[in-house]
Amino acid sequence: MLGSGDGRRVADVLLARGSQVPDTHFATLPDHLDYRDLDTPFPFVLRIPQWQTELVLTEALRARGVPVHYDSAVTGLEQTGDAVRVRAGGVWRSAGYLIGADGAHSAVRRAAGIDFPGTAPDHLGFVADVQLAEPIEDYSHHWNQDAGHASFLVLPGDTIRVFGVRAADVGLPAEEVRRRQAEPFTFAELTESLVAICGTDFGVHSPAWLARTSNSGRRAAAYRTGRVLLAGDAAHVHLPAGGQGLNVGVQDAVNLAWKLAAEVHGRAPERLITGDAGYQAERRPVADQLVASTRAQDALMHTFNPGGAALRDLFSGFIAEGGEFAREMALRLSGLAVAYPGPDGAHPLTGTRVPDLSLTRRTVHRELRPDRFLLLDFTAEGSLSGLGSEYVDVRTAAVPRREAWRDVRAVLVRPDGYVAHAAPSAAGLAEAIAAWTEPDHRAVPSGG
Ligand SMILES: Cc1cc2nc3c(=O)[nH]c(=O)nc-3n(C[C@H](O)[C@H](O)[C@H](O)COP(=O)(O)OP(=O)(O)OC[C@H]3O[C@@H](n4cnc5c(N)ncnc54)[C@H](O)[C@@H]3O)c2cc1C
Repeated sequence: MLGSGDGRRVADVLLARGSQVPDTHFATLPDHLDYRDLDTPFPFVLRIPQWQTELVLTEALRARGVPVHYDSAVTGLEQTGDAVRVRAGGVWRSAGYLIGADGAHSAVRRAAGIDFPGTAPDHLGFVADVQLAEPIEDYSHHWNQDAGHASFLVLPGDTIRVFGVRAADVGLPAEEVRRRQAEPFTFAELTESLVAICGTDFGVHSPAWLARTSNSGRRAAAYRTGRVLLAGDAAHVHLPAGGQGLNVGVQDAVNLAWKLAAEVHGRAPERLITGDAGYQAERRPVADQLVASTRAQDALMHTFNPGGAALRDLFSGFIAEGGEFAREMALRLSGLAVAYPGPDGAHPLTGTRVPDLSLTRRTVHRELRPDRFLLLDFTAEGSLSGLGSEYVDVRTAAVPRREAWRDVRAVLVRPDGYVAHAAPSAAGLAEAIAAWTEPDHRAVPSGG
């Protein structure tokens, strides 16, 4: 949806810079999840270094005239009734709202007094970007019941990412994990760990990055207090398994952006600010699922006994079968399974992510705009055009040939691409539009 500033979409710029991988591991199990059949224009994992993603997004911001400052750490904040004062780079500034997207150790979260409950770390792992003298497969995983686990992954540019955990570093007291995590992870420790786990260090050399990892799972007690909001790792941390953290953080931002814009412009109903459709109500459950999913992967990856090995064989076998289980796992890991359930009685499409359906001229995703709703008019006579406004675009189209969409004639899509309302007729539609777009609206829309 997002334009990059040079006429292309950010998604297309990222695609050009990354490499597409149609199948990927779950919990580093040997059998891979297949993304090829998922209902998305992007049925693959995009392997791209995070600094590239950050660069592309920074360029898109600058193209919109949004300044990006480095070296200006936030060191204080104050809230008044109608503003936030924030001290950044030693200078106090004032703003209507503040979004703390400042990572796991968020200064904003602390200064705003938001708790960060969850589980303490109980293992210490390692991660490194290196070169190897010996060739390896695209992905390779090594388990040694007595010594631990190590995985290798080829990144763009022939860098190899290696990550793992030694068996002796599992089940540690949290204080020990924290103390050792503060110490640098050395190249000597890396080679020693690889020899212990794999029987060889594969001729590892030229480390570009060496770090320790751990597995605390936490999420912010509140995503909002007054005019201060949290997004990304500031709101949730977990074992970096399954490649989900950045994706979930970006989805936080996409969920928040249009709601906050509506609030700033005075057109957000209360339910969009603090109610059932608010940022916190919709995104905190997603963080709960994220933390639970990575905990499950942690247990699968790091249980070094015969039971752990049997569990890995069992799960890998389910994935190899490629049926509904494997598909559900791929949907969850990719984020495509995220849905924001509607009220009782709502049409089953309500709250689901709209697929990239073909419309008359363009596809749904290319019609979406960050500041307005999209009303899909599937009536034979195109009778919904009168419901368009500066906040609602209307597009007519043939009824999609999909089972779940067969009976709908009116579908209201939110700016972030989720179904706000779906119904077999226009009955209740004007009321539903008002419930999403009028600030003084109180009733919950019917689902049709
Ligand atoms: C080894 C590893 C592998 C991973 N692999 C994947 C993957 O494959 N896919 C995936 O989706 N996720 C992955 N993740 C997770 C992903 O990196 C994070 O979820 C993501 O970086 C979170 O983004 P963020 O912007 O919320 O926080 P961060 O990336 O931590 O960014 C926070 C920013 O805030 C700045 N900041 C911090 N404090 C202050 C302050 N006081 N004032 C001003 N600025 C401040 C920081 O400098 C930083 O620029 C991985 C993580 C690790 C550790």
